[in-house]
Amino acid sequence: MLRLKLYYHAKPYLPWSLRMAIRRYFAQRKRKRYQEAWPIDPSSSEAPANWNGWPEQKQFAFILSHDVESQIGYDQLDKLLQIEESLGFRSVVNFIPKGQYRVTEERLLNLKERGFEVGVHGLYHDGKLYNSLTRFENRARQINQYLKNWGATGFRSPLMHRNLDWLHKLDIAYDSSTFDTDPFEPQPDGLGTIFPKWISNPKSERDKSKFTSASHESTAPKRPSTGYVELPYTLPQDSTLYLLLKEQTIDIWKSKTAWVAKHGGMAFVNVHPDYIDFENTGNQSQYPSAIYADFLKHVKREHADQYWHTIPNEVANYFRNCDS
Ligand SMILES: [Zn+2]
Repeated sequence: MLRLKLYYHAKPYLPWSLRMAIRRYFAQRKRKRYQEAWPIDPSSSEAPANWNGWPEQKQFAFILSHDVESQIGYDQLDKLLQIEESLGFRSVVNFIPKGQYRVTEERLLNLKERGFEVGVHGLYHDGKLYNSLTRFENRARQINQYLKNWGATGFRSPLMHRNLDWLHKLDIAYDSSTFDTDPFEPQPDGLGTIFPKWISNPKSERDKSKFTSASHESTAPKRPSTGYVELPYTLPQDSTLYLLLKEQTIDIWKSKTAWVAKHGGMAFVNVHPDYIDFENTGNQSQYPSAIYADFLKHVKREHADQYWHTIPNEVANYFRNCDS
């Protein structure tokens, strides 16, 4: 813990390559220590109670998301989305409202017209969102304004920090700041499932009674109206695989997807446009775009007709109205 504190204290003064070397050293040790629970945690495969499966009798859900971290990512975003579009995929793009770049109206409109979803990624990207309840409440008010203005229903915290109780203060249909298993994150405890999970608001007694009476009508939503769906990402993030662990192939994504498919869960990945090398420049802080393209082609080819592919807002909607 002290080692970690010292590292974060010194971090701003260290060059990127040295910081990365330190992180890689610890990541390799962690990888060995957690080999029974990462990238696959066998205990996370159990379906929710009364689970009826995915729409159209599909075996699993296949979902794509992007967190745009910096101006580089904002500028490169379209190249990434074009790869998805050319293969018939869509994703959610999570923007930081008060980050390095300015999100334009035109961009939001353009994304939605093309069938992509827009989500909110924190307020700032400073790792301080959950430092105190007062700060969170103050930021939550601003985040709610962005959710409304951008027509967004989903949220993801920077650095996958989270407090699922506090997230009830956001006007969201879903959150995706969790994962089934990811010991490499600063808050390393996983949600322990590869399925969506309903997070009901314990404070909402009024809504609970509404839920009880409404649940007798077949057309009414089956869950209380206050709460949100938690959608854990279940494939390792690109930054973990290709920057931290220096993987050279898509083998881990392939085998995890096959495992998720076998158990009928969600294969949900987070890819950052910031870290992708689209021009084959050999940039050390990026990985080749062919990696991601190859993975999408693999899923399309090897799992044809097996997956329900849609944007996370639709998954949350479906799950919210599920009979479980
Ligand atoms: Zn981020």
